[in-house]
Amino acid sequence: MQEKVVILGAGVAGIGAGYRLDGAAEIYEARERYGGLCDNFTVGGFRFDTAVHLSFAKEKVVRSVFDQTPYFGHKPIAQNYCDGYWAKHPLQNNTFNLPVEEKIRIIKSIMERPAYDKVEDYEQWLIAQFGQYFADRYPKRYTRKYWCCEAADLSVEWITSRMYLPSIDEVLHGAMTDETPNTYYAEEMRYPKVGGYRAFFEHIADKMDIRLSHRVISIDSKKKIVGFENGNTADYDRLLSSMPLPEVIAAMENVPEEVVAASKRLYPTSVTLVSVGYKQVMDLPSLWFYVYNEEIPFARGYSPSMKSPDNVPSGKSSLQFEIYHSRYKPLPQDGDGLTDIVIKSLDEMGISKPNDVEVTDVRTAKYGNVVFYKGMERDRKIVRDYLKEQGITTIGRWGMWAYLWSNQAFMSGYKAALPNTGVEA
Ligand SMILES: Cc1cc2nc3c(=O)[nH]c(=O)nc-3n(C[C@H](O)[C@H](O)[C@H](O)COP(=O)(O)OP(=O)(O)OC[C@H]3O[C@@H](n4cnc5c(N)ncnc54)[C@H](O)[C@@H]3O)c2cc1C
Repeated sequence: MQEKVVILGAGVAGIGAGYRLDGAAEIYEARERYGGLCDNFTVGGFRFDTAVHLSFAKEKVVRSVFDQTPYFGHKPIAQNYCDGYWAKHPLQNNTFNLPVEEKIRIIKSIMERPAYDKVEDYEQWLIAQFGQYFADRYPKRYTRKYWCCEAADLSVEWITSRMYLPSIDEVLHGAMTDETPNTYYAEEMRYPKVGGYRAFFEHIADKMDIRLSHRVISIDSKKKIVGFENGNTADYDRLLSSMPLPEVIAAMENVPEEVVAASKRLYPTSVTLVSVGYKQVMDLPSLWFYVYNEEIPFARGYSPSMKSPDNVPSGKSSLQFEIYHSRYKPLPQDGDGLTDIVIKSLDEMGISKPNDVEVTDVRTAKYGNVVFYKGMERDRKIVRDYLKEQGITTIGRWGMWAYLWSNQAFMSGYKAALPNTGVEA
């Protein structure tokens, strides 16, 4: 008899696993739509992605799936906003627009950066790369907004290629001219011409056996049965889960105390998305931008209408803002209050006037980013090792408990679905 594979969660990781199994799996999803953080929603004719923005996938497998959907290739040209100034991204080698005194402080900071024998945390890493002044003034402020904690509280495992480390020549060059080469970690960012980000994988997902509105509430790894909130159950021979690790542990019984305690220490940032549709085509700063001021609640803004005009009614435009919070740093406001702060900030930043706005929307993804607090890697290992012993394979951003992009989440499911077969990514 054929082995029965059950996949929990129909985000891009669950879809990647289902694809590798050629659809021979039952996929259970809590929500009434598949896609997870790569899904989208529509308000008054304006489409907004649920979290994801653009694809910079390099893996052959992912490209062979995503590239079947016609897409726009965007140049990764972003801006930074800080204390009334706009400057190209990344700021460290694009200070041209900043006041002269500020440029001098930044250049001196980078030239006088101290050497560390061993970097213990993200704050030390920032100071070692950029010097004290730059670290304090830019990335440490941004860290409070994006990670909702101090840089000194974070480990360094997640950084990899995400932050650009310029040479002194590049720093000097970027202070004297704005004609600097693009140094972003991806050369092209892709986005479907029609249908939002999810269109990249709808053509494979629509053929899969995805059972929506099935929220997992219990997992019996001895009897190999999953129970759902709606009263249904599913038995399995093999189980793959993209659910958040703490939620998998909470759904199981007789879990050792040490594992429960480790799962409770793991925590994410949540992201509240404030989405704004405009009455006309606005002159927006760039496809996306970073905001350092801490009194402005959002860390980043993205323009869905610049990703694709298909995201807005003809002759209109849109922006979406990410406001992060966590169990240690709650939202400053919710609902209408938050929208009001965002609209006021946009006015102060010179982006739009309150009267330009046609629609707004506020919604929250409880699981936004994995927080790499010091010791997280140990807690994650305790939980994942236990689940492995129980015969549960964990995949995706929340099952791997890692800072994965959508292509990496897809590949984690794809590779785990048929282990030991060797996959050329
Ligand atoms: C703000 C933001 C911006 C991002 N931008 C980009 C970007 O530009 N490019 C990029 O490549 N990546 C980006 N990412 C990362 C990308 O969105 C994720 O890596 C990817 O979507 C994760 O997919 P996943 O399937 O692992 O998790 P998810 O998308 O979270 O899917 C997990 C699924 O499991 C379901 N689930 C959870 N609990 C249960 C339960 N109890 N029972 C049943 N189902 C359950 C959820 O409903 C969900 O559908 C971004 C992420 C965020 C937060």
